[in-house]
Amino acid sequence: MRPARAVIDLAALRQNYRLARELSDARALAVIKADAYGHGAVAVAKALASEADGFAVACIEEALELRAAGIRAPILLLEGFFGIDELPLIAEHDLWTVIHADWQLEALERTALARPLQVWLKLDSGMHRVGFFPQDYAAAYHRLLASGKVSGIVKLTHFARADEPDSPATSVQIATFRAATEGLPGPTSLRNSPATLGWPQAAGDWVRPGLMLYGVTPFATPQAAAERLQPVMTLTSRVIAVRELPAGEPVGYGARFVTAGPTRVGVVALGYADGYPRHAPNGTPVAIEGRPGQLIGRVSMDMLTVDLTDHPQAGVGSEVEFWGRQVSVADLAERCDTIPYQLLCNLKRVPRSYRD
Ligand SMILES: *Cc1c(COP(=O)(O)O)cnc(C)c1O
Repeated sequence: MRPARAVIDLAALRQNYRLARELSDARALAVIKADAYGHGAVAVAKALASEADGFAVACIEEALELRAAGIRAPILLLEGFFGIDELPLIAEHDLWTVIHADWQLEALERTALARPLQVWLKLDSGMHRVGFFPQDYAAAYHRLLASGKVSGIVKLTHFARADEPDSPATSVQIATFRAATEGLPGPTSLRNSPATLGWPQAAGDWVRPGLMLYGVTPFATPQAAAERLQPVMTLTSRVIAVRELPAGEPVGYGARFVTAGPTRVGVVALGYADGYPRHAPNGTPVAIEGRPGQLIGRVSMDMLTVDLTDHPQAGVGSEVEFWGRQVSVADLAERCDTIPYQLLCNLKRVPRSYRD
């Protein structure tokens, strides 16, 4: 069997969830959209089922997968519904829905439902993606109440720059949120992972941690609370071939790496078809049998190459970690000009196994 593996540490996941609650002193919706950022939504939901206040996903398809797997906890649809035909299903499966646009509000008003819905009404406090503008928010809120279709309203907003500790944007968004929702009864929800870790000023009744659950910092610079996160996914594979090359020899596609001296090259069974970033430069950190090592040469679809010159003990069968406890996926993302979110979501073809 091909040796690439992603091992998911469920105990670490639970610790990270508890940290989100502890830091926020609020209820926490575990954000498990996009197959729990590549970790497996059903397995992650089951691991958190006994303690999570609820879950959040991107769409009803993701929510129904969880319901089919027996998850009974509240599930929020972060973008609400995409068509009016989803509303009866939302009621039937007891889902919570965001309402972020006028057309959704009208759809709810027009639809007869078996029971009233728990609605999260979204304010655009400055990100300018979805949500009601501050001047329209109270009217939308009162229309929802008057519709008779809701059992409760949570006021929510989303931050655009909470991962930038020095940006004033988050404070501005917080102030906009407080002003627009003032006097409107009901719980509030402002914080994603970076805000849960770094913005206590954004206090509210619910937090919505995603990335931090998986033990990964959203910050590009060291951050005190993020030091307490425990990596959940460890991505490894094994050396499948070793060759000794003299100086001046190219390795892999495009000869991006040329040996400077006698070099022992290890070929590892992992590539960009597994989600490892093709743009990883020469020198990208890996861990070879627990010791720091580096990538050399271009990443190909199914294989990549590492430098074993300083790892004489390593050979065919040696384990190489690409991210996890030894190699930070956030650091890897930075080197590849992307974000850890994308690397985790891109994981594919690699079998996942779960450890408690
Ligand atoms: C994805 C998402 C989150 C989680 O964001 P993280 O940065 O992963 O914590 C929270 N809220 C909303 C509305 C989202 O779409």
